[in-house]
Amino acid sequence: MTITDDGLLLCPHCETTDTHVEHVFVSARQEDQQINEITVNAVSGQVRTHEAHVAPKGSGVGIGRRQRIALAGFCEQCGRRFALVFTQHKGVTLVEVAEGELPDWPSEEE
Ligand SMILES: [Zn+2]
Repeated sequence: MTITDDGLLLCPHCETTDTHVEHVFVSARQEDQQINEITVNAVSGQVRTHEAHVAPKGSGVGIGRRQRIALAGFCEQCGRRFALVFTQHKGVTLVEVAEGELPDWPSEEE
C-alpha cells in the first residue's frame, strides 16, 4: 500500500493513482465473540448487516480474534479490486493489503 507525497492512494497492483474506494467492510465483534459482517456502500449509502461473506483480510493475522475494518476499491487502469485492511490484534493495529480472492461486493442495484 502506497500513498504519493501529495496524498494520492496508489493501486497496489499497478501503482497508478486512478483508484476508487467505494465500500467499507466491518467484521464487528468483541474478542472471540460472534462476528457481525457489515458492508457499507459509500456511493449509495446502503448498509447491510449480518452478511454471509467474510470481510477482506490480510495475511498477517487473517480473521484474528477481534474486529477488522477493510476499505475496498478498484483501479480504473488495471481493473483489479483491492482492499486496505485494518486488523486489531494484541493491542496494536495491523494495516495490510488484502491478498487472495476478494468477496463479491454488493452492487448498488441490489
Ligand atoms: Zn491498478
